[in-house]
Amino acid sequence: MTSESPSSLWQNTCRENPSSSVLTGEVSADLAIIGGGYTGCSAALKAREMGATVCLIEAETFGHGGSGRNVGLANAGLWLPPEDINARIGPKTGAQLSQALAMAPDLVYGLIEHHDIACEPVRNGTLHCAHAPSGMADLQRRAEQLQAIGAPVQLLDKAEAQARVGSQQVHGALFDPRAGTIQPLAYARGLARAAQDAGAQLYDHSPATALSRGKAEWLVTTPKGRIQAKHLLMATNGYALPIAGYQAPSIVHVNYFQGATAPLPPAIRSQILPGQEGCWDSALVMSSWRMDQQGRLVIGAMGALDHFGSKIHHSWLIRKLAALFPALAGTPLESLWFGRIAMTSEHLPKIQKLTDGYVCFGYSGRGIGPGTLFGQQVAKALLSGDETALPLPVCTNHSLPFAGLRGAYYETGATLTHLIKDRIG
Ligand SMILES: Cc1cc2nc3c(=O)[nH]c(=O)nc-3n(C[C@H](O)[C@H](O)[C@H](O)COP(=O)(O)OP(=O)(O)OC[C@H]3O[C@@H](n4cnc5c(N)ncnc54)[C@H](O)[C@@H]3O)c2cc1C
Repeated sequence: MTSESPSSLWQNTCRENPSSSVLTGEVSADLAIIGGGYTGCSAALKAREMGATVCLIEAETFGHGGSGRNVGLANAGLWLPPEDINARIGPKTGAQLSQALAMAPDLVYGLIEHHDIACEPVRNGTLHCAHAPSGMADLQRRAEQLQAIGAPVQLLDKAEAQARVGSQQVHGALFDPRAGTIQPLAYARGLARAAQDAGAQLYDHSPATALSRGKAEWLVTTPKGRIQAKHLLMATNGYALPIAGYQAPSIVHVNYFQGATAPLPPAIRSQILPGQEGCWDSALVMSSWRMDQQGRLVIGAMGALDHFGSKIHHSWLIRKLAALFPALAGTPLESLWFGRIAMTSEHLPKIQKLTDGYVCFGYSGRGIGPGTLFGQQVAKALLSGDETALPLPVCTNHSLPFAGLRGAYYETGATLTHLIKDRIG
């Protein structure tokens, strides 16, 4: 029905156009960056602000990976609540990470404003909605943990949540006023444009094909060029293409697809998300929904659209739309696309250390704020030699046995859930 890179809503409405050129010939720079999503572009911008020379290469176009396909919920923190983070990496490191990421929306919206990035920023908060009465226990637990570390989140009862969402299908919600929505691809391309304006050399359609270490520098080969650089940032994350001489850390891919309605008529638009919050739900096979600037409802759920189950996912999404918002029953979804979420073993992001370099990966579904922050922080650490400000201690490797099988397990689970729910309503 659709490939992984169809013309998505985000591609069709993106108003940021960084300049495009292929790397040809030899370039030398203080920092070479491989991958042009939030992590790579944010690092390039920060490195230029610090006065370093930067060369970033992107295999496809800027924002081709998760950065150009996501829901656009610019959240604070991670998917896991604070105590779960602490249980996995220890209370001191966990608290440091949660504190750093509490500020992530400030960083994102600050960059958008400073660089005048045309990415439809709306900072009216997000609603994590209870999909059933049983979902409230999880939201309550999250609210308590977040409030305990000073987050200004509020638990909304069923009536308030239903009024905010404009749907009888939610049973309460956790409201986070720090967060908001963006046009995700435009944000990625806007960061790329800001980095170019600051003097970074950014090349698209220039995949790294080989990587090696010289005496004291990195050598990156592309089909038509070569970069020599003292420092290296690998920012290919869940979209890593094979590179000779380099083994990317293993991650599990969890697929997530979305579709968008046409702009809704004003009478309907005024009843759905009148406050323009971005939403997702507490179901195990979760869904999300939000408005774009033109009043299109963008709705999504777990699943890929490149296999026999894509029709199941699509038909389930149409039914989900109608169930949430009966006024939209029968409304077609104009574009459908999907992307791969990069999950790590602990569902936490990682910074892996290389000689004079880092690999950042595995934001596990929360990469807008974290990718922007990690990109900045690793650029600073590389150029200053001071790792103390990194949001996480570095790791030396990350292996995830049976990553492919685990990804298939999630996809099969999402397909079966959508099939069963579609059959029994
Ligand atoms: C469907 C979906 C929904 C999501 N929803 C949200 C959300 O609402 N909020 C949120 O915060 N996060 C969300 N995320 C997560 C977020 O999108 C990612 O964590 C984030 O985009 C990762 O950014 P990145 O720069 O690290 O990697 P990416 O954006 O994936 O960029 C990696 C880039 O590297 C390039 N590349 C790969 N190999 C090579 C090579 N050999 N040479 C050169 N370039 C190469 C790729 O083409 C790609 O452009 C979602 C993710 C998906 C997929």
